[in-house]
Amino acid sequence: MGSSPHVAVVAFPFSSHAPKLLAVARALATAAPSATFSFLSTAGSLERLRGAGAAVPGNLRLVEVPTGGGDDDDEDTPAWRRMELFVEAAEAGGLKQSLEAAARAAAPAGAAATVTCVVGDAFMSMAAEAGVPWVAVWTGGPCALLAHLLGDALREDIGDHAASRGDELLTSHAGLGSFRVRDLPFGGDNPSGEMHRVMSLLLHRVARRLPRAASAVALNAFPGLFPPDVSAALDGALPNSLALGPYHLLPGATAPAASGDPHGCLAWLDRRPERAVVYVSFGTVAALPPDELRQLASGLEAAGAPFLWSLREESWPLLPPGFLDRAGASGSGTGLVVPWAPQGAVLRHPAVGAFVAHSGWGAVVEGMSGGVPMACRPFFGDQQMNARAVAELWGFGTSFEDSGPMTRGGVAAAVTSLLAGEEGAPMRARARELQAKVDEAFQPDGGSMNNFRKFVEIVCARA
Ligand code: UDP
Repeated sequence: MGSSPHVAVVAFPFSSHAPKLLAVARALATAAPSATFSFLSTAGSLERLRGAGAAVPGNLRLVEVPTGGGDDDDEDTPAWRRMELFVEAAEAGGLKQSLEAAARAAAPAGAAATVTCVVGDAFMSMAAEAGVPWVAVWTGGPCALLAHLLGDALREDIGDHAASRGDELLTSHAGLGSFRVRDLPFGGDNPSGEMHRVMSLLLHRVARRLPRAASAVALNAFPGLFPPDVSAALDGALPNSLALGPYHLLPGATAPAASGDPHGCLAWLDRRPERAVVYVSFGTVAALPPDELRQLASGLEAAGAPFLWSLREESWPLLPPGFLDRAGASGSGTGLVVPWAPQGAVLRHPAVGAFVAHSGWGAVVEGMSGGVPMACRPFFGDQQMNARAVAELWGFGTSFEDSGPMTRGGVAAAVTSLLAGEEGAPMRARARELQAKVDEAFQPDGGSMNNFRKFVEIVCARA
């Protein structure tokens, strides 16, 4: 290794966090071929990443770290408890030990075992205490991050009145004036639940450590995405932030689409007309209540447009009787239902014209990158703020959230309008404008590429 950098990339091994960090790690390893990268995650998380067909560059090795007692795939232990065990073990010195082990494993015989920089998912903010320069990667919505950073002031302002003041705009908090009290990520759908408790503690630590300890914070956004007041508030709260996304578009970030398309989604889309297909996905965690799932299914049928639906297989038995046969799960009918789709590539496919999503931040930036207008059905975490931003800040979609759960009629109307209706025309136009801005950000001298080069320099600097 000599004097070349050895960078430890630390994943948060839950939901879609690890694949997003692996995309950043792959891009870094591609941009800095003489540096060595160790990607640290749990066995189960690494297995899922390998299963998703993620071949990695030769200078990036995948390194297993302990689960901290919450076994990855142990379905008897609830997700919140597995997360809690993992985070507390990492806080109690576990991360430091894993970094030392990764350093020893990467050091050539006779050379000193070192980690020159930790690039960590911001959720792993205990990296701030590891004694090595720390660069954080935020994978969620930047407006939600701003809300976490301003959390103390917001909590002081709102106190216990979130329910009665839900519709109030947050105009007295810089950068948050387009959002309502009830859009904030603190409440969740069950503020007294265990997951809420675990996430609140974790995010509180993140908000405390990021501004004072991180050398830089990557944001999954591009310069110019947010209105000036939001950008200024983000810069004020986090002067070291670098907007260098959407991460999945960074050179080298994603494996060739074909290797991650086991269900033939892209070939199916190739046979559909331009901008004709509705793509439906609620990400890796959110699950619709059974009634709402059936409403969505019959709404898609009522709209009559071809649809591609990424739906986890455990939910298939909840679909209306005959739905899968009518859709033609084999790809012969109007719809294709699959357990997994290469979403980034699907949304960039010319046949996709509308996106029904939970408005996870990955979904939002991928929809934007494809110029696809969205109908959002947010659930928890940052999704409410993301949905609000889609509809209010950028106007390239709508949110079902204000009118309650999705209904057959609501889905059919939203999809029809986004695909070709008069009402959807401005949203389609805004989506295309945003796509053009994304493409511009990835030109050789574009904003995301410039920030990415700065990021690589910071990550690969030798002390
Ligand atoms: N994803 C995918 N194929 C699927 C479903 C999801 O590739 O069939 C990816 C999607 O591209 C996105 C991530 O999983 O990058 C989900 O992230 P998001 O922030 O939207 O939601 P989360 O899963 O964290 O709720």
